[in-house]
Amino acid sequence: MDIIKGIRGVKDILPEETSRWRFIEETARRWATLYGFHEIRVPIFEVTTLFARSIGASTDIVEKEMYTFQDRDGTSLTLRPEGTAGTVRAYIEHNRAADPVPQKYFYSGPMFRHERPQAGRLRQFNQFGVEFFGTADPRADVEVMALLWRMLSDLKLPALTLEVNNLGSGPDREIYRPLLVTYLRQIHEELCGNCRRRLETNPLRVLDCKVATCRSATEAAPRLADSLSEDARSYFTAVLTGLDAIGIPYHVNHRLVRGLDYYCLTTFEVTSTHLGAQNAVGAGGRYDGLVHMLGGPSTPAVGFAVGLERMALMLDQQAMTSTIQSLTVYVAGFGPCGSTSGFSVLDQLRVAGISAASDYRSSSLKSHLRQADRLKARFTLILGDDEVEKGIGLLRDMNTKDQHDIDLTHLIPRISSLLQAS
Ligand code: ATP
Ligand code: MG
Repeated sequence: MDIIKGIRGVKDILPEETSRWRFIEETARRWATLYGFHEIRVPIFEVTTLFARSIGASTDIVEKEMYTFQDRDGTSLTLRPEGTAGTVRAYIEHNRAADPVPQKYFYSGPMFRHERPQAGRLRQFNQFGVEFFGTADPRADVEVMALLWRMLSDLKLPALTLEVNNLGSGPDREIYRPLLVTYLRQIHEELCGNCRRRLETNPLRVLDCKVATCRSATEAAPRLADSLSEDARSYFTAVLTGLDAIGIPYHVNHRLVRGLDYYCLTTFEVTSTHLGAQNAVGAGGRYDGLVHMLGGPSTPAVGFAVGLERMALMLDQQAMTSTIQSLTVYVAGFGPCGSTSGFSVLDQLRVAGISAASDYRSSSLKSHLRQADRLKARFTLILGDDEVEKGIGLLRDMNTKDQHDIDLTHLIPRISSLLQAS
């Protein structure tokens, strides 16, 4: 029979790798909590219009990357390609704007995009993200960028750069758009096929194209920065001053236009030269119009999302403090009485909070000890028929190979005190 395989671009995370993942997730959660964000869990699928309306019809995601399907009643549903749309929907639906304290959420979980799979680019991938609602102060932008920067720095991810730009307000971009389009029409010949299309649908995205010829052709393009209103400029100055004040290093990148329509004012991205072609680790920005656009009260907001796969690719094993729960006791029960007693001792240990394992396939002491070694057990409790008859077991310290009798009625306190002593 044919073996059924996983889907292309959809990966298993095997037990050897999950400690690395937990380490990343726990670090992210810890930092987000330090900055006053609380976890929100929103659904993995939503009605398609939510994403189409928020992310924007002429973006890569909505044009070609969404996993969309029909529900039985014909409703169009989509597996979430990102976390902001669902979080905003929940914010509106549960009337969170009525809460007098700023709403600060974080989320972590799988996202789905139909892309060409390669290193650091998958069809199911995981993002950690934060959304800060209700504050139009540039310090909120700084706080969100600081959180991202400190979290990634704490993970000791190499060669990071925080790139920042200012997209101005909607009207600012309306002034800029025709200037850019005029310029792009002149260099039309030099643009890639994708950008020729973007020129008509979403011209700002041309500036973000990764193709080298597009980049050089747009080098001399008019700058959005020159079309910005006084308000947008002073907002940006306040953001940069805030970053300086708390010592977050950044690089102003005038070409940084994010691929989602909902951003305004501040946009940012953290990149690393260690990631090859997929050099972005995380990105975000301000999206003051989105809550209102989705039918909620006018609410300023700012947030980011980071890709956990890309973080995992960069994480040096050395940087990980051990989160691996090692095995404390391997129970080696053999012979009719030893096996029976071993089975209940296993359970007693676990109930007492001591990790314990056995291999039911092993029937001799020798094979048990081999498995205890492989499982890197701290102790092995040897229970043969003779021991069990005397109400004892033999406790073997797997590091020193010392072995001594242990009264089974005092097993738990004895092991606990040995663990405390070591
Ligand atoms: P890219 O330019 O790499 O396509 P993006 O602009 O589409 O990124 P965002 O939507 O801003 O990415 O998502 C934020 C982060 O999520 C990215 O910086 C990246 O780390 C991660 N990410 C996005 N798409 C994928 C994917 N297909 N596979 C793995 N990680 C991804
Ligand atoms: Mg993308």
